[in-house]
Amino acid sequence: MLFDRDGTLIRDVPYNGDPRLVEPMPGATEALGRLRRADVPVAVVTNQSGVAKGLVTPDEMDQVNARVEELLGPFDAWAICVHDDGDGCTCRKPAPGLVIRAAAVLDVSPRDCVVVGDIGRDMAAARAAGARGILVPTMVTRPEEIDEAPEVADDLTDVVERVLNDVREAPVPAAAAPWARAMGWSRW
Ligand SMILES: [Mg+2]
Ligand SMILES: [Zn+2]
Repeated sequence: MLFDRDGTLIRDVPYNGDPRLVEPMPGATEALGRLRRADVPVAVVTNQSGVAKGLVTPDEMDQVNARVEELLGPFDAWAICVHDDGDGCTCRKPAPGLVIRAAAVLDVSPRDCVVVGDIGRDMAAARAAGARGILVPTMVTRPEEIDEAPEVADDLTDVVERVLNDVREAPVPAAAAPWARAMGWSRW
């Protein structure tokens, strides 16, 4: 599962370089804990154009990301775009590069990834990479972004319910069923 950082995992403080200002979004800690216990890999896919703009140094960004992991636990991958719109990179969302990169680190297909974000760029990146997109709107999400989203969730708790329920409801191959049950398939 791939998460946008600002406005999704932590409160959006524009161009923040101060680790003291990092504050998890409601439900983030619990949601990530549930995913990790279910052995779902978790990663961050984040646009950080503040670096390209010179508003945040790479070192400040690293400190903020370290604080994110201190508060929310370790992530299996971080895919970060430090470019700006005019740079013509292939990673800045809505381009699919970050999703493709994170999926490669997790050794899964982007098609098997879920991208969670708070704006249309996140959903567009998911779509472009062939991943499932789930929008969790905030105050900054525009109404048309909500209308156009493939899926909309109330919060991160709702996101995790949806994804884990889908995993649980996936058909278990008959031959594997006893094993799956023995492993606690329906325990989530
Ligand atoms: Mg965001
Ligand atoms: Zn980039």
